Amino acid sequence: MTRTIRIGTILIGGGHPVALQSMCATKTTDYLATAKMCQHLYEYGAAIVRVAVDTPLDAAALAKIRDLTDANLSVDLQENYRLAETVAPFVDKIRYNPGHLHHAEPNVPWTEKVRVLVEIATQHDCALRIGVNCGSLDPAQRGVPAQKELSPMVHSALEHAEFLDSLKFDQYCVSLKGSDPFAVLEANRTFARLQPDVPLHLGVTEAGMPPEGIVKSRLALEPLLAEGIGDTLRVSLTVPNARKTEEIDAGREILRNVELGTIISPDQWQPNRLNIISCPSCARVENDRFVELAEAVREATRFAADVPLKIAVMGCRVNGPGETDDADLGLWCGSSQVNLKRGETLLGSFSYDEIIPKLIEEIREKKS
Ligand code: SF4
Repeated sequence: MTRTIRIGTILIGGGHPVALQSMCATKTTDYLATAKMCQHLYEYGAAIVRVAVDTPLDAAALAKIRDLTDANLSVDLQENYRLAETVAPFVDKIRYNPGHLHHAEPNVPWTEKVRVLVEIATQHDCALRIGVNCGSLDPAQRGVPAQKELSPMVHSALEHAEFLDSLKFDQYCVSLKGSDPFAVLEANRTFARLQPDVPLHLGVTEAGMPPEGIVKSRLALEPLLAEGIGDTLRVSLTVPNARKTEEIDAGREILRNVELGTIISPDQWQPNRLNIISCPSCARVENDRFVELAEAVREATRFAADVPLKIAVMGCRVNGPGETDDADLGLWCGSSQVNLKRGETLLGSFSYDEIIPKLIEEIREKKS
């Protein structure tokens, strides 16, 4: 059994009910809209609501958001780990991504940065989440040869968990996410076997739009939960802000299926067909047309449904460039242009009106 950790008013792990999580996609600096969305998600059933913080202005907004919502708040720090000091008094959990720690102050070892995070978390009674993401692994991990059965994602999570243990900090959970549900399933199984006492937050990143995004999440999460693995979960869906509660509905459906024993069969998804992965968007999204763009990609590519092609649609420059590398064709959004890639190669930047015909051209070229 996992150990219990406290996140604001809730306890996770240790046999407590699996907590559902969601994330705000409003601009964090728009503190009124963000607080309203946090409260709405909380009242709908989100035990934890995550907010993205990248700048001192976002951090300042968080103080106001805290006063306006009862939600248990988790903050997502990507590159600027030093912002933890400013945000910790106002949040209940801090998520850091081991793959992004190297960006700021590259000469400072990651262990020193994590030590700072642990000190701040301890001082402000915050939990931490080690949030490892397959698409944004620490460059040092990408070169690590697979050790026995350990993927770089599992290796990174274990390394950080062991480091937090060495600091005698136990109020943390771990997530191992990626866009391939079967890779997520295996990574979490392996981690849970090796570190059975560490609470796990489950999720498939860039699962995409419903219904496909729900199917991919079910494929990873239902078997894990049925095996007793997982203490919190998020079903990340590419939906407009007004429909974000669908993430909670999908999470409830997953828990219900596990309870009833009606878990999804792996053959419900065929990875050798067209696979559109898209991020759920968050405060970092660079153009409000992102969700519309993802939907347009799905509509325009229906003719290629049987083609084994992975298309990634990402909302911003923080994760867009890296997380489209593995796709056959990748689109990541800037404020007025969409960047189109084939694998790791940038093909060009196009306006929101030009991008779909360009994408179709590329698909036809690949098919011929
Ligand atoms: S790709 Fe960017 S906009 Fe999309 S969820 Fe990730 S950080 Fe947010």
